[in-house]
Amino acid sequence: MIQHIPIVIIGSGFGGLGTAIQLKRHGIEDFVIFERAGDVGGVWRDNRYPGCACDVQSHLYSFSFAPNPNWTNNFSAQPEIWAYLQRCAREFGITPHLRFHHEVRAAGWDAEARRWRIETSHGLFTANVLVAAAGSLSVPALPQLPGLEQFAGAMFHSARWDTSLDLTGKRVAVIGTGASAIQFVPAIQPQVAQLHLFQRTPPWVTPRPDRAFGWRERRLFARFPLLQRTMRGYIYGVRELFGTAFRHPRLIRPLERTARAHLASAISDPTLRAKLTPDYTIGCKRILVSNDYYPALAQPNVEVISEPIIELRPNAIVAGDGRVRPIDLLIFGTGFRITDFPFMQLVRGRDGRTMSEVWAGSPKAYLGTTVSGFPNLFILQGPNTGLGHTSVVYMLEAQMLHIVAAVRHMRQHGLAALEPRPEAQTAFVRDVDAKMRGTVWVAGGCDSWYLDRTGRNSTLWPDFTWEFRRRAIRFTPKAYQAI
Ligand code: NAP
Repeated sequence: MIQHIPIVIIGSGFGGLGTAIQLKRHGIEDFVIFERAGDVGGVWRDNRYPGCACDVQSHLYSFSFAPNPNWTNNFSAQPEIWAYLQRCAREFGITPHLRFHHEVRAAGWDAEARRWRIETSHGLFTANVLVAAAGSLSVPALPQLPGLEQFAGAMFHSARWDTSLDLTGKRVAVIGTGASAIQFVPAIQPQVAQLHLFQRTPPWVTPRPDRAFGWRERRLFARFPLLQRTMRGYIYGVRELFGTAFRHPRLIRPLERTARAHLASAISDPTLRAKLTPDYTIGCKRILVSNDYYPALAQPNVEVISEPIIELRPNAIVAGDGRVRPIDLLIFGTGFRITDFPFMQLVRGRDGRTMSEVWAGSPKAYLGTTVSGFPNLFILQGPNTGLGHTSVVYMLEAQMLHIVAAVRHMRQHGLAALEPRPEAQTAFVRDVDAKMRGTVWVAGGCDSWYLDRTGRNSTLWPDFTWEFRRRAIRFTPKAYQAI
């Protein structure tokens, strides 16, 4: 039997859960959330590696409509953020809408019925509106390394950490030096016998201004919500100012000096320091924040290897310097499949092509949310809604309000289906591309996951985030056409 559900949300991370909450707050209750796992939380459920924490302050990296006065730290750790999302699901009454272990395997637009047909691990469903909140950092990227299949030791990706494995005394190779690796490397270094860190590109690392909030402060936040809102506003404002420097790379040089001083203060060995010094403008790749990464690399049981990996053997890894390093465990800190949006291979639009085929390697959407040819589909964290400098939850909230406004518009006007006019989408993308020119993300001299395979930055939003919000929270009927 095919079950019909008016609104289906896929995923229960910040995006899916937040959309559900906003729909409910606006009196829309006829939705369900399909979640492939057994709990809410998205990346904050899946990433359980030691040291996992957020590098944006929690008072900003949280829903504006669900302030949490009890954050224990400026930059909260993963368990606290996951617990926050679980609490939001309960307190906003989302739990009855959740369908766990429902993995979406395909979704296609049925032009005749003007509905989405959704194949899941629990059978077939139809929906009027489909919200894809499957996350952009949810599918691990695993490099094809020669000999990987013959490696006999343990191995896992940072987002699939094997918490049952005792790392004590192990000889470990870590591949990658991104935002995840710089958190788990210092966390495991004291425990392991030897840590070989394979670095392809050194990241820029700046100090992490973390501190704990004492009980007095937390009580003040709880008693005076305005205080917490002011704090959120202050963090937001500072980060937006900072964002200006990414768009005008000359302004970002002082930050580069801070990062160099941070490196010099922790690493006295000039050879290691040279190896860890990036050769591109700071900000071109995500700037990392850590106080313990460099000190961990200076420890005698850590070796940074910048030669490429040649092959894996049953109990060893061979690098370009010819040395064979015996290892027991291989950890991939190699990031995620982002610009190819793996979930979009499962979604077929009006003409029968998948979103991936339509995008052809360069994702484009109107307001980063809706796509011509894909009626009633809303993508959270879609193309050009990512950020390099502040909280992505702010962008998600703007998208959620766009979805609420679109659903209300359809219902008020009795419209079965809407999609953006091609010209509205083209104008939006042209504007984004024009604003992207000259930014550090495209002119900073690095190769980053922000860039798609055509070389376009289809990941980041290149303007003030309030400008995105201003545009996205309004629903402009003339940008859309009824189908
Ligand atoms: P990432 O930033 O994409 O870093 C991947 C690392 O693996 C890079 O150092 C990359 O080198 C290296 N790598 C990839 N493929 C490789 C290969 N074939 N051989 C050798 N090295 C390879 O991934 P991530 O660290 O998991 O972080 C992903 C994103 O998650 C972040 O940018 C951030 O948005 C988010 N994140 C956020 C937080 C937070 O605190 N909010 C924490 C963790 C992660 P290259 O630089 O040379 O490509």
